[in-house]
Amino acid sequence: MSQQSQEQYQFIAQILSKHAGESAHIDDFQFFYGGNFNLAVRLRIKNTEYFIKWTQGDYQGLFEAEAKNLETIHATGAIQVPRVLGVGQLEEKEYLMMEGIESADKQTNYWQDFGEKLAHLHQNTTAHGHGLAYTNFIGAAPQENSWTLDGVTFFIENRLKKQVGRALYDRKITPEVAEKFETLYERLPSLLPHEAPALIHGDLWSGNAMVNDQGLITLVDPCCYYGFREAELAFTTMFGGFDTKFYDAYHANFPIEKGFHERIPLYNLYPLMVHVNLFGEGYLPAVNKILATF
Ligand code: ADP
Repeated sequence: MSQQSQEQYQFIAQILSKHAGESAHIDDFQFFYGGNFNLAVRLRIKNTEYFIKWTQGDYQGLFEAEAKNLETIHATGAIQVPRVLGVGQLEEKEYLMMEGIESADKQTNYWQDFGEKLAHLHQNTTAHGHGLAYTNFIGAAPQENSWTLDGVTFFIENRLKKQVGRALYDRKITPEVAEKFETLYERLPSLLPHEAPALIHGDLWSGNAMVNDQGLITLVDPCCYYGFREAELAFTTMFGGFDTKFYDAYHANFPIEKGFHERIPLYNLYPLMVHVNLFGEGYLPAVNKILATF
């Protein structure tokens, strides 16, 4: 084992002895360097799977928020997420330890089950309005969730304006593009439906939809909040989309208003602007195209 791996092994062993009371014999150990900002490891001790991830940089509160996100979704009982086993700081790194998801092949009803469960998740609402009791993160970007009764106002103030402001400050967009957003904000109240706030996962692309040991859905890496459920469905289409059985099952359980397909690009302006800010201007042509359409 290299010096670096040995240090990482020691680091993980300390977390395990704190939260699982055991570090003795790790049966299987697999590094995941797949996350964008973090390191992660998947391991097995006596037939129990664990997944631990920790920060590389200075993202304060990232995992505390993620643990709360997982617990918020778990509390609904609507859809499976990994159980949180521990969260904290060690050697100036933040870590999150959770149940490891052992994957099997998808069951034949995987997509239908997923669609039904997501609809049930979205049926969780709140009287506080759109938002959440704390700030969380989408990737490494803070996501402010101050409660707002009107959904469109929330979407503009806490979602679009935050990302547009940051992109303008970092000179990733020009003032002309920011102006176009301003014009769009005036039109949004007549373009988006007024729906009750729904608890959504917040980052629902295929990489965050895992198959568990029963061949059914388990969601990972949420950045949940009460918001537009259509924003969640729109987001699922951004990187290729899910199986049609998923959408059919969702609609059968929680029908959506007519015209959703035309609204998809509007909702996706938010994740696209997050991508512009986190990953660069490659996502700008898609943003400009949507702004030109509306
Ligand atoms: P990041 O926040 O760094 O993007 P993720 O939480 O998305 O990290 O995890 C990266 C990948 O690791 C996921 O796409 C998934 O394949 C895998 N993964 C995440 N959580 C678990 C888990 N609890 N058990 C097993 N694998 C997991």
